[in-house]
Amino acid sequence: MLLQVENVSVAYGAVEALKAVSLSVSGGEIVAVLGANGAGKTTLLKAISGLVPLKSGAIVYDGKKLHELPPHLIARMGVVHIPEGRRVFATLTVEENLNLGGYGCPKEEVKRAKEWVFQLFPVLKERRRQLAGTLSGGEQQMLAIGRGLMRSPRLMLLDEPSLGLAPLLVDQVFATIVEINKKGVPILIVEQNARKALNIADQAHVLEVGRIVLSGPAREIAADERVRQAYLGGATYERRLRAKESRAP
Ligand code: ATP
Repeated sequence: MLLQVENVSVAYGAVEALKAVSLSVSGGEIVAVLGANGAGKTTLLKAISGLVPLKSGAIVYDGKKLHELPPHLIARMGVVHIPEGRRVFATLTVEENLNLGGYGCPKEEVKRAKEWVFQLFPVLKERRRQLAGTLSGGEQQMLAIGRGLMRSPRLMLLDEPSLGLAPLLVDQVFATIVEINKKGVPILIVEQNARKALNIADQAHVLEVGRIVLSGPAREIAADERVRQAYLGGATYERRLRAKESRAP
């Protein structure tokens, strides 16, 4: 197993954001964690990349205890965290943002990684001299992912890549995530867009107020009645259907 999150609890003062959360990611997998606003998804990724301390539990990656290491050493081990909200450097060009992603890596590696990013996202190549702040939301998301790819990731943590994107762009970003995974990069993705995440994931977990309430193969989770009702628009669909029926003569 590449990554094991074991009984992890995290608290912000009195707020318990994660309560005894356990999950794992093996090589080659896409694992999705679904949950509503405030469920603890961002906190889970921050705990893995060392940005918040654990109250209890352990995070083991490649046999090493990540929770005892500072964020920069975790990043150096190939754990790449793409935060929510497309945080790119607005006043730098696309290429400068990518170069920063590869900062400290051997020149040849940076060149190879940049070629890969430009191949995955041709629009970034076209706009490489453009300031990142002038890109569309979707392009900024692509740049945020591209910057993460500059460091030969061995595990990618993705925080809500669909957030605020138009449906067509969401499809594009998810197709690229699959492509990155096919190149051998395991991915842990946290998403509110359950349908999209379940479509690409191998395993999935449902997080509710800091606790994992359901885990299994993504196909099974997608078929689960509770998930359909709560996350896949089942309830809305039923409501619409009932409203329609009540209007019928
Ligand atoms: P969202 O989709 O809104 O990003 P999330 O599932 O990622 O939500 P988290 O951001 O991990 O959830 O938050 C989990 C809980 O912890 C929430 O109740 C949130 O208010 C609380 N929380 C998050 N960050 C902090 C903080 N720095 N200080 C105090 N409470 C926090």
